[in-house]
Amino acid sequence: MRGPGSKERIRRFFLANIGKVVTSIQIRDAIGPNVSEWARRVRELREDEQWLILTHNDRADLSPGQYILTEIPPEKSAVKFSRSISAKLRAEVLDRNGFTCQMCGKCPGEIDPDTGRKVRLHIGHIKDKSLGGKDELSNLRALCSTCNQGAKNITTEKPTRIWLLSQIRRAGQDEQLAVYEWLRVKFTKRRGKS
Ligand SMILES: [Zn+2]
Repeated sequence: MRGPGSKERIRRFFLANIGKVVTSIQIRDAIGPNVSEWARRVRELREDEQWLILTHNDRADLSPGQYILTEIPPEKSAVKFSRSISAKLRAEVLDRNGFTCQMCGKCPGEIDPDTGRKVRLHIGHIKDKSLGGKDELSNLRALCSTCNQGAKNITTEKPTRIWLLSQIRRAGQDEQLAVYEWLRVKFTKRRGKS
């Protein structure tokens, strides 16, 4: 049998150097004879396996040809995110959120007592993209799967009539008048159009 393939060798190399800046020359040395493949392998780790390997495009203190794997790579993606979120943004969100769910405080790898499964973090939009939310730090946060699911239900399900009426009944008179005024304008406009 042959030794480990080039991808596995790069994997091992980065795992042995977590948090350290490494150079393309070191990566090439680690991979051995298949020199031309190293850049593609690094890209595959970043894009397909979601390893947080940063380059000079992601971090100003890195020069071209320098790379750093900043964290232990997610075991079969303990962190999920949409493709549009760059490695740099992901690192910033996770760093700002301290690698914990922003609703319940669980960390990836912990066992979720509710599900009995390992916690996975999702980097999600606070304001959904379908509602105009952007891929930027202020609109992103880390949530565990359980909280992420709950948040999704709140933002995507339309509130029911009963729920809306109950909220209006609980509100103060000024708020009720504001709702009345908003509805009056909205429906007067609509009638005027037809
Ligand atoms: Zn949570």
